[in-house]
Amino acid sequence: MVNSAPTDGGPGPQAPACVQGAEPPGLDIEAGRLLFAQACTFFYAAQSIDQLPAPLGPEIAFAGRSNVGKSSLVNALTGQKALARASGQPGRTKQLNFFNLGDRLILVDMPGYGYAQAAKEVKRDWQGLMFDYLRGRPDLRRVILLLDSRIEVKASDHAVMDLLDRAAVTYQLVLTKIDKITPAALAAKLREAATLARAHAAAYPDVAATSSDSGAGLEDLRAQLAQLV
Ligand code: GDP
Repeated sequence: MVNSAPTDGGPGPQAPACVQGAEPPGLDIEAGRLLFAQACTFFYAAQSIDQLPAPLGPEIAFAGRSNVGKSSLVNALTGQKALARASGQPGRTKQLNFFNLGDRLILVDMPGYGYAQAAKEVKRDWQGLMFDYLRGRPDLRRVILLLDSRIEVKASDHAVMDLLDRAAVTYQLVLTKIDKITPAALAAKLREAATLARAHAAAYPDVAATSSDSGAGLEDLRAQLAQLV
């Protein structure tokens, strides 16, 4: 499966939104573009810890509540329309899906957690495979934890952040669907998310803001992920 080059284009008015409102220093947009312009293929699904594929290289895992826009973001980052399936479809729900991006980076799609799930249900569901994966995967460079910019942070999100802290995995908060909110609402949401990140030991301080629909923030996020390779 060969992807076409991402179509959200070059720098423009939609460009990077990170919490300080400026590009993090040294961000190499071209490196991110080149990395994510490579072929990306689904190659493995794991339902238990003993089924994990042998490490192939640096991994980035994507997590978030169902409907947060995770599939859309993975598809938009890689410039593919149907790489990660949309949520709500059966199958692939309680498993880790592995994608190979040009033999340079492995993208891991984690199962979405329930919209209305209580913190204790998330803890229960993530106790086994998810936690074991997060804690024991030496090549896991970062978890991208998606938050819907239109919706308040839920108990289930807090539970996952606590779990990521316990697993001692660096994770980055990434706002989704920012095309749906006003600039003022986005600024407030970025402040809120940055405060949240500061309160968590394993959270990366920069919060990214993205829209898979408009392409806003995608080239910045690609560049940030390319730095981890
Ligand atoms: P997932 O369950 O986290 O994989 O979420 P999906 O990627 O399937 O998206 C859930 C819904 O949100 C779908 O109806 C998408 O079209 C919509 N969506 C995803 N990303 C965006 C975005 O950036 N902007 C807007 N407006 N809608 C989005």
